[in-house]
Amino acid sequence: MKITDVKRIHFRGKATWQSDPCGHGHPGPLRDSPMSILVVETDEGLRGYDVPTMYQEPYDGIDIPKWDGGKWDLSAPIKKPDADPGLERLKSVLIGEDPFARERIWDKMHKMERMGGTVSQRLVSSIDCALWDMFGRYCNLPLLKLLGGHREQVLAYGSTMCGDHWEGGLNSAEAYGKFAKKLVEHGYKAVKLHTLMDEHWDGNNWVGSPDVNYDIECCEAVRDAVGPDIDLMIDCFHHYDRYSALKLGKAIERLGFVWLEEPMDEYNVSSYKWLCDNLEIPVLGPETAAGKYYTRAEWIKYGASDLNRCSAGDVGGITPAMKIVHLCETFGIPCELHGGGPITLAMMGAMTIPGKYFERGLLHPFMNYEVCAPWLNKMIDPMDKNGMVEVPHTLPGAGVDINWDYINDNLL
Ligand code: MG
Repeated sequence: MKITDVKRIHFRGKATWQSDPCGHGHPGPLRDSPMSILVVETDEGLRGYDVPTMYQEPYDGIDIPKWDGGKWDLSAPIKKPDADPGLERLKSVLIGEDPFARERIWDKMHKMERMGGTVSQRLVSSIDCALWDMFGRYCNLPLLKLLGGHREQVLAYGSTMCGDHWEGGLNSAEAYGKFAKKLVEHGYKAVKLHTLMDEHWDGNNWVGSPDVNYDIECCEAVRDAVGPDIDLMIDCFHHYDRYSALKLGKAIERLGFVWLEEPMDEYNVSSYKWLCDNLEIPVLGPETAAGKYYTRAEWIKYGASDLNRCSAGDVGGITPAMKIVHLCETFGIPCELHGGGPITLAMMGAMTIPGKYFERGLLHPFMNYEVCAPWLNKMIDPMDKNGMVEVPHTLPGAGVDINWDYINDNLL
């Protein structure tokens, strides 16, 4: 079997979020948005897909402001994006290849990514995920079983969006407490705060600077609201100095938190080592640092974190991410996967020394997460009242049930 094409199916999807100037996601109104499914095709008619699955909707009657204070233009026409030059470049090593030679294909793509330019890590990841999906479809087995199938259910945490300044949003310690209580009432056994990160420049002024004391107030309010039996974590501003990170770590140690996530720049490895040496509470990372499994191995060697971190998207696909999962197992270190979706669920399901939690979200008081995206027939991560999420294990491959009628009716 040979790969004959790699392409995107562009369709009119739905966006329900907006980015702040640093790129952090916040709620947005429901509106049309260009989306795409990546497809790998073969000469035998077999296909593999990488499908976007993240989706939620604003509750009725919520009027979500625009981050920059402007007005929404919900009637703006949407168009098919221009050709992807990175995909065109990668075709030169993909077309004619054996689709099941994933290690060889990944090695080639990784080398093409090294010099930057048009081949991005996200694109390499997307192709690798589509190849795994294809292998599952060929074997008629779910990704969970291809990866080694250990468990069919995982425990979720409710992961909040970053802080904001909106009335009714995540604009105060009290607001975080109230929202965390609602999440626990919904069934979550654990909650993670993303706190204020919305620094941005307004002319010559720095607006909305994060602050450790405010983070601590938010953590205290959430612990007060949910009581002692709920696991809590914080993912805060990623550019604190080591002394601010230590202050926050000591405070949440007292509050019985489960981990402290990425409080400093992840290239500041000596500071991470210093922080781990000075805290009882586990420090989690690296999440955003480049370098794939090499970086995760170095962090383990230097003791720069207590809990390791990756996702398929963060390291270039399932192929490299599973090397990290196994590396962590050999050192007896849990690997807490970053972000949600079917690939994360399958990888979690295949771990022997597991990361404890599946990240569900990001969640916000304005948004209803418990809805199915219109381009899917079934939500990927419904949660039961005990806070458990099933790993997809009925459909072959990644287990995404694509609504082809919707896609075909909305082609761009
Ligand atoms: Mg994080």
